[in-house]
Amino acid sequence: MSPTTERIAVVGGSISGLTAALMLRDAGVEVDVYERSPQPLSGFGTGIVVQPELVRYLLEQGVELDSISVPSSSMEYVDALTGESFGSVPADWRFTSYDSIYGALYELFGPERYHTSKCLVGLNQDSDAVQLRFSDGTQAEANWLIAADGGASVVRKRLLGIEPKYAGYVTWRGVLQPGEVSDDVWNYFNDKFTYGLLNDGHLIAYPIPGRENSESPRLNFQWYWNVPEGADLDELMTDVRGIRLPTSVHNNSLNPHNLRQFHSKGERLFAPFRDLVLKASSPFVTVVADATVERMVHGRVLLIGDAAVTPRPHAAAGGAKACDDARTLAEVFTENDNLQESLQRWETRQLQQGNAYLQKVKRMASRLQHGGSFEPGNPDFAFGLPAVDEPSVVKNF
Ligand SMILES: Cc1cc2nc3c(=O)[nH]c(=O)nc-3n(C[C@H](O)[C@H](O)[C@H](O)COP(=O)(O)OP(=O)(O)OC[C@H]3O[C@@H](n4cnc5c(N)ncnc54)[C@H](O)[C@@H]3O)c2cc1C
Repeated sequence: MSPTTERIAVVGGSISGLTAALMLRDAGVEVDVYERSPQPLSGFGTGIVVQPELVRYLLEQGVELDSISVPSSSMEYVDALTGESFGSVPADWRFTSYDSIYGALYELFGPERYHTSKCLVGLNQDSDAVQLRFSDGTQAEANWLIAADGGASVVRKRLLGIEPKYAGYVTWRGVLQPGEVSDDVWNYFNDKFTYGLLNDGHLIAYPIPGRENSESPRLNFQWYWNVPEGADLDELMTDVRGIRLPTSVHNNSLNPHNLRQFHSKGERLFAPFRDLVLKASSPFVTVVADATVERMVHGRVLLIGDAAVTPRPHAAAGGAKACDDARTLAEVFTENDNLQESLQRWETRQLQQGNAYLQKVKRMASRLQHGGSFEPGNPDFAFGLPAVDEPSVVKNF
C-alpha cells in the first residue's frame, strides 16, 4: 500500500480540513488548504467537550491533553429559574475550546500551504481533476477536492442545492474570565458540566482552558432560545448595520435592542446563571441548523465534517465527527490500493455515523428545548458519537 501521488485541495481550514490535510501531508501527499478567512481562525474561544476522535491526531503528535483541556468530575441538572437540583452524576469529561484545538492543529500544519483569503465561489470537475475558483479571481487545480467548508458549505450547495435547515432555536454563547464572576459563581460551575433546564429552552455551562492555554481557565456558557422563523428570527439576526446575517451575529455588531433583551431575560434566571448572562463581556448569537446528504463522494469531490452532515451541538461530538470523517478519509488515500472501492466503504460508514448522530441530537433537542424530561445520566442522551455497524475502512477505531 502506498499513498496517492495525486494532489489534493482542501477547502475550509478549520478542524476537519486541517486534520485531513495534516494526515495526508504526513503520509507524503501534496496537499493545500484554502481558507476564506483573511487570517488564521479564532472561534471566539468558545467551548468544546473533548471526545477521543477530536484529539486523537493531536495526542499522536505528542500534544498533552492537560495542555489543551481542563478536567471535570460531574454533570449537574438544575432548574435554571429556581436552582432546584434534579440530580448529579459522576462524569470525567474534559473540556477544551475551539481555539485550543484549532491553534494546535494550525501550529502543526504551518502557514506555508495554508492559503488565507481564499473564498471558494465555483468549481468544475472532469475525469482527472477539479478546478477551483476563488472570490479574489484566482484559480487552483487539484486531482481531488476535500470540501471541509462547514455547515453552510458552498460546495454542498453548488453540487446538491442543499442548505442547512433552521432547527427552530438559536444559541447565545459567552465566555467569562475568572475575575468577571464571584468566587461563589466560579465554584458553582467549576469542575462540572451543568445543565440549566427550562420549559422553553436550556442553558449549559462548563470551564474551558484560558486563551493560548496559558492563563487561568474560563467559564463557557450557552443559552438556547426557541425563536420562530420569520419576523422574530429576522430581528434577532439583524446586526447593528441593518444586515440580516445567516449564521451568527458577533458581539461587536449585535443590535443593542437584542443585547438588552438578552440581559433582561437573564434577570429572571437563578443567580449563578444570571451572573453568566449579565457579566459576559462579549456574548453573541448563532442559529442552530441541520443538514445532511445522501452521498459524500461526488466524483472527485469529497464532503467531510459539517459540510457533509451538520448536526446540532447537544451531544458534544460534531467536531469529533468532523475529525473522524477527516481521519478515515486520509487513511483511504494513504493506505488503500483500491481507492474507489475504499471510498464507497468510507462513505457508507461515515454517513451511517453522521446520520445516527444527527437523529440522536434531534431527540435530545426535542426534550431540552421543550421542557421534556431530561433524566440525569440517561444513556440515550450521553455525549459522544453513536456506535456504527459498518467496520472502519482501514483500522478498527
Ligand atoms: C454552539 C456550538 C457548540 C459546539 N460544541 C461542540 C462540542 O462540544 N464538541 C464537538 O465535538 N463539537 C461541537 N460543535 C461542533 C463543531 O464546532 C463543528 O462540528 C466543527 O467545527 C465542524 O468542523 P468543520 O471543520 O467540518 O467545519 P467548520 O469548523 O464549520 O469550518 C468550516 C471552515 O470552512 C471555511 N469556509 C467556509 N466557506 C468557505 C469557502 N467558500 N471557501 C473557503 N473556506 C470556507 C470557514 O471559514 C471555516 O474555517 C459545536 C458547534 C456549535 C455551533
